[in-house]
Amino acid sequence: MNPLLQNALILTLMLGFAVMEFASHRYQDTVQANSNDTKLEVLMFLSLVAVSQPLALLGANALCTWLIPDQRGVWSDLPWWAMAGILLVADDMTQYWWHRISHTPLLWPLHRAHHSASYMSIRITYRNNFFYYMLMPGLWMAGMLLFLGLGKVLAFYLVVKMAVILGAHCAWRWDEPLYRIKALRPVMWLVERTISTPASRPEQRRRDWPLQRQLRQPAFLLGRAVRLRPHHAQVPARGRTAG
Ligand SMILES: [Zn+2]
Repeated sequence: MNPLLQNALILTLMLGFAVMEFASHRYQDTVQANSNDTKLEVLMFLSLVAVSQPLALLGANALCTWLIPDQRGVWSDLPWWAMAGILLVADDMTQYWWHRISHTPLLWPLHRAHHSASYMSIRITYRNNFFYYMLMPGLWMAGMLLFLGLGKVLAFYLVVKMAVILGAHCAWRWDEPLYRIKALRPVMWLVERTISTPASRPEQRRRDWPLQRQLRQPAFLLGRAVRLRPHHAQVPARGRTAG
């Protein structure tokens, strides 16, 4: 997949979810953002796209070129499913744990802004502290895997990942009608344990989001393989009143 197609698909996803937020009236009915919210969200989105993401990717590439120059492209002949497996561990799993430890008192300042929004919408997807992304292990891993030759599958992976992430934050609850169809219940049971969905994260609407349901997702791999049941105390006290 060439970068142009990849970006076109991601842009289409963003526009599609945005249109559905409006068309379903969920945006108008539930999103009450003030100018500070808008400033924060626009700034963080731009800083991720223009600064933290390129810095992490280029930084990882520079480190690899320096430390393991002979390894450039050595994994480029792996089958696609092996590349996908590596990406799930290196990105999805590390992102799961990065998010999780960002709910501890030490790292909560990097992530507090995400839960300080009083609404759910794709606009809060990247509402985090600058250093939340700068230090995100998955971004650095992606840079390393690009160096090792996983670029082709990484492009597809990112499009799917964007669909999941945007879908999870979307004000339009795309999964709601699916729960009403009895025959789909086993499918939805699996879906909500595999990816984040609007139904799997209603707690985020509260400022004291205790990570209950999302962290219960066993999902695919190691990081999500255990049915986790953290209790409320795991959210730092400051987080409960964060605004
Ligand atoms: Zn969180």
